[in-house]
Amino acid sequence: MDMKKEKIVCPYCGKTNTWAPGNIYRPFCSERCKLIDLGDWADEKFRIPLQPDSSEDNIPEPDDDNDT
Ligand SMILES: [Zn+2]
Repeated sequence: MDMKKEKIVCPYCGKTNTWAPGNIYRPFCSERCKLIDLGDWADEKFRIPLQPDSSEDNIPEPDDDNDT
């Protein structure tokens, strides 16, 4: 079994950390960085603009002119 410790870099703060099997916050260095990153991700999600509801302009008019 290879027990060598992998060096990782926290995606958020860039701090070098050890990828320990017991590090539940990996690949982040700490719980704080993980929570902040997740928060940013959620914020990005909410920042996605809603698609403009322009479908009303594309709905074909009812055939009111149809005299049959
Ligand atoms: Zn970090």
